[in-house]
Amino acid sequence: MNNLLSAKHTSAGVAGLGATGYLTIDIASLSRNYEKLAAMVMPGRAAAVVKADAYGLGAERVSRALYARGCRHFFVAQFVEAQELRLALAPDAQLFVLNGLQPGAEMASAELGIIPVLNSLEQYRRWCVAARSLKRTLPAVLQFDTGMSRLGFPPEERPTLAKALEENGTVEVLFIMSHLASADELDATQNAEQLAEIRRIADEFAGFDISIANSGGVFLGNAYHGVLARPGIALYGGAPTAGAPNPMEPVVSLEVAVVQTRTVPAGTKVGYSGVHVTDGEARLATIAAGYADGLPRSLSGRGAVYYDGIRLPIVGRVSMDSITVDVSALPEGALSLGSLVEVIGPHQSLEDIARDAGTISYEILTSLGHRYFRHYR
Ligand SMILES: *Cc1c(COP(=O)(O)O)cnc(C)c1O
Repeated sequence: MNNLLSAKHTSAGVAGLGATGYLTIDIASLSRNYEKLAAMVMPGRAAAVVKADAYGLGAERVSRALYARGCRHFFVAQFVEAQELRLALAPDAQLFVLNGLQPGAEMASAELGIIPVLNSLEQYRRWCVAARSLKRTLPAVLQFDTGMSRLGFPPEERPTLAKALEENGTVEVLFIMSHLASADELDATQNAEQLAEIRRIADEFAGFDISIANSGGVFLGNAYHGVLARPGIALYGGAPTAGAPNPMEPVVSLEVAVVQTRTVPAGTKVGYSGVHVTDGEARLATIAAGYADGLPRSLSGRGAVYYDGIRLPIVGRVSMDSITVDVSALPEGALSLGSLVEVIGPHQSLEDIARDAGTISYEILTSLGHRYFRHYR
């Protein structure tokens, strides 16, 4: 398990030999997470949010795997993401762009069958123009701002939108949606307020179906499930609810190789600016991943990696390409060039490292670098 030279981490045998880090993405766990969420939201459907390259895990691999499990609705944030993913997905997979329409993307969206989430009157009008020039109706989702002030029709645009929808048959509204600002907090009153608001809007607009739940929303109860849930982080093993046990299976594990070990006397400075000074003789290991690989600099002097279940604290500053850890808790010689330590795995969850870094699991996942050997299991 711990020696790089054995290369037994990789189903591809020696394919990962020489890599300084191994990022393993467990497709079976991902699939089970999807099935769990899909079962919870029945009779509604569960989409997959695969924006930002499926939170860094590979949008194409992830989407194909979830398609095989019955997922037919995929959300990305930007048009360019949709453009790439469209080619990888079967025609019956619907692909939605959360940021809607940027000027200039209208015709390409229409031609590729990409469905914009329209957030404003201006985006709506641009989509109507595209439909008229193509002489056919174009599908869309309408997003309403129900209290996040980020994306979606603001309240003052609703009357004009209602009129436009009545007069104009060129845009086919599939459903309406909104996004919860506090879905990961079970007792946030904002959740119920936003749900009530989107329901009011649905009634106002001829009873459109509703989509409001992200991962956290799925766990807020049936009332939030609507016609289509839009989980992201929970698919990838992140905790949907803050401060509660995580019901999802871990999907990602990360092991990083040791590049050098040394024994130093008391009073030795470690890393940039010498901010860490050893208080006794210490054994140190330098591991081959740093902030350029998505291990935030905020982990400097905080957090740890693990070896054989033993905690090895990070000492000194995180460098661009490496981190130094104190391995004095291990038997002498336990680690050597090429040994692999656990950064994310059975002893340290995504949430653990995110907490130590002062961030959230989303940011850790979407920052994971491209220098690791990626292995899909
Ligand atoms: C990112 C996003 C999601 C997915 O959120 P998770 O918290 O990762 O489940 C759903 N809906 C919208 C509008 C989003 O931007």
